[in-house]
Parts: sequence; structure tokens; C-alpha cells
Amino acid sequence: MQSFNPPRRILMGPGPSDVSPRVLAALARPTIGHLDPDFQALMEDIKAGLARLMNAQGYACIPLPAPGTAGMEAAIMNLLEPGDRAVIAVNGVFATRMADMAARAGASVTLVEHEWGKPVDPAKVEAALAEGPAKVLAFVHAETSTGVRSDAAALCALARKAGALSIVDCVTSLGGIPVDAAAWDADVIYSGTQKCLSAPPGLAPIALSPRAQAAIAARKEKPRNWLFDFGLLMSYWGGEGGRSYHHTAPINALYGLHEALVALFEEGQQAVFVRHQRAHEALAAGLEAVGLAFLVAPADRLPQLNTVRVPEGVDEAAVRAHVLKHWDLEIGAGLGPLKGQVWRIGLMGASATPWHVRLCLTALCGALAAQGHAVSTEAALKAADKALA
Ligand SMILES: *Cc1c(COP(=O)(O)O)cnc(C)c1O
Repeated sequence: MQSFNPPRRILMGPGPSDVSPRVLAALARPTIGHLDPDFQALMEDIKAGLARLMNAQGYACIPLPAPGTAGMEAAIMNLLEPGDRAVIAVNGVFATRMADMAARAGASVTLVEHEWGKPVDPAKVEAALAEGPAKVLAFVHAETSTGVRSDAAALCALARKAGALSIVDCVTSLGGIPVDAAAWDADVIYSGTQKCLSAPPGLAPIALSPRAQAAIAARKEKPRNWLFDFGLLMSYWGGEGGRSYHHTAPINALYGLHEALVALFEEGQQAVFVRHQRAHEALAAGLEAVGLAFLVAPADRLPQLNTVRVPEGVDEAAVRAHVLKHWDLEIGAGLGPLKGQVWRIGLMGASATPWHVRLCLTALCGALAAQGHAVSTEAALKAADKALA
């Protein structure tokens, strides 16, 4: 075997995003024990940082030792028991996973389906909740497969009104647009580290409201997964009364998450959101200047995930291969019904900068020209720079 040295890449797909040198450096610090008193202090700092970022004071906020999907699975498996009813709003790939998990938990699932590229419709969700008592309403705040933002405040309010617990997938939203557990009165929020937090993949921050914790404590039977059983996890992460061994925490990955949070608060949450929005507006101006169109209506777009229609006659995969080969640039393909139809361009975390926008526009225009679809790189850059000015 030989050491693996990855090529240098610029990550502008649907995640992972570019990881800053300071986070990479933090990952390389010496490993210490998962029960070391100094490590326990770091755990407390991470819990407080997550609570601050999600505005989730009074919630249990911990990072699960696995990627974003683990947050989804933990939320579903801890809240749902056989016989419970779950209403799941589907407007892209990720909520279909939630529905599969809820069915595996033995719940009866009501799907509220939407066209891909559209936000979740509160009126449809309200009607589904009115059909009968539901334990859970689950939806995706920032749907990464389409680039759509849904109204989390309105949807969580509907869950409260119906006496259901809300589960909000914030994997792509956290660190890119505001996530506000208190304002939404949300019950479970989960995320991942490799999207707008710009840490490597492998951790899933999750926040549980006191209501969600009470519902878990009142379960008739134990959750069917052991590693993500919330009660067992809190014997390690809870801290009160000392910590006991549950699993060996991914120590160095947690250094990385901690450093990413430090960097985010240094910049300031508001400044981070403005940076994402400005980068998005510049990218959109550049793309639209050369006739490229977005899938999603302006009011519903996520700044951090831009879904761009592939023009007639252009080979979607060849363009991605071109920008990777010539610019070391990764952009994303379409998923499900959007396969071959769109590119997904991420402006997440450390990848949401004017430099990334200019690089992406230059690379994309070059790739289109190579396909015989001539567009003016100059016009794209000029429009982007005007939006940035
Ligand atoms: C990426 C993503 C996930 C899954 O996260 P992994 O880290 O890939 O497991 C879930 N939901 C949404 C909305 C995502 O964008």
C-alpha cells in the first residue's frame, strides 16, 4: 500500500464543501481519550456552540458520530413507535428517505407529495394533519436535491397546532441560512457537518426540545436502534452526574466541528448568511447573463444550492467532467427525476466566496463552449461583479 494524496479540488457540489485550512489543521491535533477531562470540556463547548447556532437553548444539542443521515434516522427512530402516525412532506429526495425510515419504525406514514422544485405547501400539510392524530410531522427545510427552501416556521406551527412533534431536516440549511429552533418552536432539528459548516463529513448535530425528550422518555418500547438511542447517548453526552462509556467518540472529527463553529462565530452568524446570499446573487446574475435558467422560482431559492437547467443539446455529464478536468472543480448532478436535467452548484460555507463564483462561471462557460454552446465568459463575469459591487 501507499499513502493516499487526494488531488486538489474545489468543492461546489451539494456537499461536501471546501474545508478551510484552519479546520483541517484542527483535525490533525493529537488524539486524546473520549473521557479525558479536557475532552469533556470540549464536548461542553460544542454543545453550547450548537445550541447557539440553532438558537436552541434548553434543547439537548449533541453531534451524533455519523453523517447527516444518522440525524434523520435518530430523529425518526426515537420519536416513532409501531402504530404511530407520521405525516411526511415530500418535495425531493431526502423526505422519501424519512418515509422509508418511518415505515421501518413501524409507523403508519401519510405522504404529502409535491412537485420537485416547489416548497412544501402548508395548506396541504394542514389538511393531512387534520385527517387524524399524528405523532410526527417531518419535512426538509433546505431540499438539497432541488435547491428549494420551505417555510419551517409555518410548518412547525402547524405541527404544534395539531399536537404533533416536528422533525426538521436542516442538513443543508445550518450555517447557510437562519435555523431558529426557538422561533419555530421546533422539536427535532438535525444537520450534517459537510455542507454549510464546512467541516469534513461524518458528524450529525442534532437538537431535541424538552417536548421531544419527554415523548422519548414516555415510549412504550425501546427504540430499535442502539447506537442512536437518545437515552443511551445522553449517558455519555449529557454530562450531569459524570460521563459513562457509550461509544468511542470520533475525537478528531469533533476538533474539526469545534474549529468550524469557532470560525463561524468569529465571522458572525449574520455576516455568514449575508456572504452566502451575496455569492448566490452574483452566481445567479452571471448565469442569467448567459441565458442559463434556474429550476426554482426566485422567492424559494436556497442561496447555498443553485439548481441550474441544462440547456437543450448540452451533455450534462460532459460539462461536469470538463470542469473537473480543466479546473479541478466539482459541481453536482441532478437526482431522481432531475437526473440529466440540471446541475447543482453549491455555495456552502467556505465555498461561498466571490472567488468561487468567478471560478465556477469561468469554468462553466468554457465547458459550454467546448460543447458547441458558445456563451460569453466576459458577460457572465461582468454581471457577477456588478452584483457583488
Ligand atoms: C446531505 C443531506 C442529507 C444526508 O446527509 P449525509 O451526511 O449525506 O448522510 C440529508 N438531508 C439533506 C437535506 C441533505 O442535503
